[in-house]
Formats: sequence, C-alpha cells, structure tokens
Amino acid sequence: MAALNRVIRSAYYSPLTIRRLSDLVSDPASIRIASTANPNPNKSPCTRMTPPVSRDALGTRSVQWVFLGCPGVGKGTYASRLSNLIGVPHIATGDLVRDELASSGPLSKKLAEIVNKGQLVPDEVIIDLLSKRLEEGQTKGETGFILDGFPRTIRQAEILEGVTDIDMVINLKLREDALLAKCLGRRICQQCGGNFNIAAIDFKGEDGRPGICMPPLLPPPQCASKLITRSDDTEEVVKERLRVYHDQCKPVEDFYRARGKLLEFNLPGGIPESWPKLLRALHVEDLDNKQSAAA
Ligand code: AMP
Repeated sequence: MAALNRVIRSAYYSPLTIRRLSDLVSDPASIRIASTANPNPNKSPCTRMTPPVSRDALGTRSVQWVFLGCPGVGKGTYASRLSNLIGVPHIATGDLVRDELASSGPLSKKLAEIVNKGQLVPDEVIIDLLSKRLEEGQTKGETGFILDGFPRTIRQAEILEGVTDIDMVINLKLREDALLAKCLGRRICQQCGGNFNIAAIDFKGEDGRPGICMPPLLPPPQCASKLITRSDDTEEVVKERLRVYHDQCKPVEDFYRARGKLLEFNLPGGIPESWPKLLRALHVEDLDNKQSAAA
C-alpha cells in the first residue's frame, strides 16, 4: 500500500486515504500508556515528563515514538538500542535514502546529488520511501515504530499527524562542536554495518555551555580494516546539514513542543553515561542489564 505517498500527492487529505495509512500504524486508541509527573525533574537531563514504560507493559501495545536531533547527535544509536530493548522496529529515513542510493534505481543519482550537498530530499520522495518501508513491515506483522530522522519538515510532521498519533518525540541535544566532531569521527563497518566513532571528545565548559566528554567507540578487530565514512560526513557537508537542520527541522521541535509531546534530552556524555539516563527519562527498564548486574 502506498497510502502515505497517496496522501502527500493529493492536494487535500481525504479521510479515506488517511484511514488506509492508519491501517499501517497502531490504532491510537489501543495504545495504553499512563502519564505521570517526573518524580525528580531536577536530577534528570530531560525537561519534560514522559509516559512510564516497562518492558512488561509493552507486551500489550506498540509504541510510536520519534527521535529528533541534529546530525551526529546519536539518534540512530539510541533509537536502535531502544528498538532492540522494547521490540518495535527502528525506521531511519536516512537508512532508507542510503539503501536507495546503493541501488541502481532511477532515483539514486538525483538523491546522491542532494544528500552529498547536505540538503533534504523532497518530502514526496521521503514519504514514498517511508510508505514502502511501513508496507513491508506490515506484511511481516510489525506494529509500532521508532522513527529516526522523520519528520524533518513541518509538512512531513503535518502529514504524519494526519494519519496517526505519535506518543512521544525525543529530542536529543548536544553542543555543536561535539556534533561536528562526532560526524567527522563516524565510521561504519562495510561488512556488518556496525557504527563506530573514532572521535575522542573532551570539551571544557565555556560561555555557559557545559563541558562534555565522549570517549571513542572503537570497532572490534574484525571490523577495523573494513571501516568506511559516509559521503556526507565531510566538514563542509556536515556544516551545511547543521545549517539545514536549524533552518528546516527546528520548527518540527516547536510543532511537537506545542502539542506537549517533546521530551528534551541533553546528552550528558557517551553511551555508558547517557543510555541509563535516557532509559530513566523514558521510564523504560532494561531488565536484562539489571539481572546481569545483579548476578
Ligand atoms: P540521516 O542519516 O538522518 O542524517 O539522513 C541522511 C540524509 O538523508 C539527510 O541529510 C537528507 O538528505 C536525507 N533525509 C533523511 N531523512 C530525511 C527526511 N525526513 N526528509 C528529507 N530528507 C531526509
């Protein structure tokens, strides 16, 4: 079903089209997450309360979450960890674009030009790719999702809102010099697809900005000789991607803030420091880690 792209192609959102796309996503009414106040807001790096979720409770419904944040902030890292933990698919529109680039399909040349300039792919194309991905997931029986890198424009956000209810939007934040260093340090194993980072970030606090320390995430020996960098992770392109983010994607934060769905999460450091704090902010329990820590 190409419902989502049908929505964008039509000048108006017909109720029928919206209902068809809704078939691909969970019935909002079936999502059962209670809201509570953050018991300790001052101690958390997050600035808005979120629904409490435990792994036990997740058996009864599927979450529909969105990760926002600047290039290099770690959306993919945390979204994929959460996806493994709570058992809903992690759908990154950047990955869908890169899959299309890697194919010899008719779109790939046009997309390469856009992506390598640090620009956004047209809404129609992204909606089409996402729609296909949701369709494939539906045939496999997937429910719920953690979207990463979508929506990136107000138009995308409005289309998504027209077809389903997003439970929560997690806005990851990191100072800009660290974002640039993380993008430049990013390495991907071309064999296993693993994501690593060779940047050793240790920036002092200054001008009101907090200091940040993020140790490198080095690959295991079997990946070390197979690392590649993304073609859009050059300094010039990353700076343009950051500019585009502030210009076109920041309004999406405001869109969800106005709806009371935005959880702001300032990354306090690398994964070992940030992951448990993020789970606490989301009220997600990592039972496996707890059990292994207790053993
Ligand atoms: P990412 O991996 O999220 O950094 O995405 C890589 C590139 O794919 C971006 O710089 C954009 O060119 C394109 N892209 C990914 N998601 C979107 C989106 N939602 N809207 C427009 N372009 C996107």
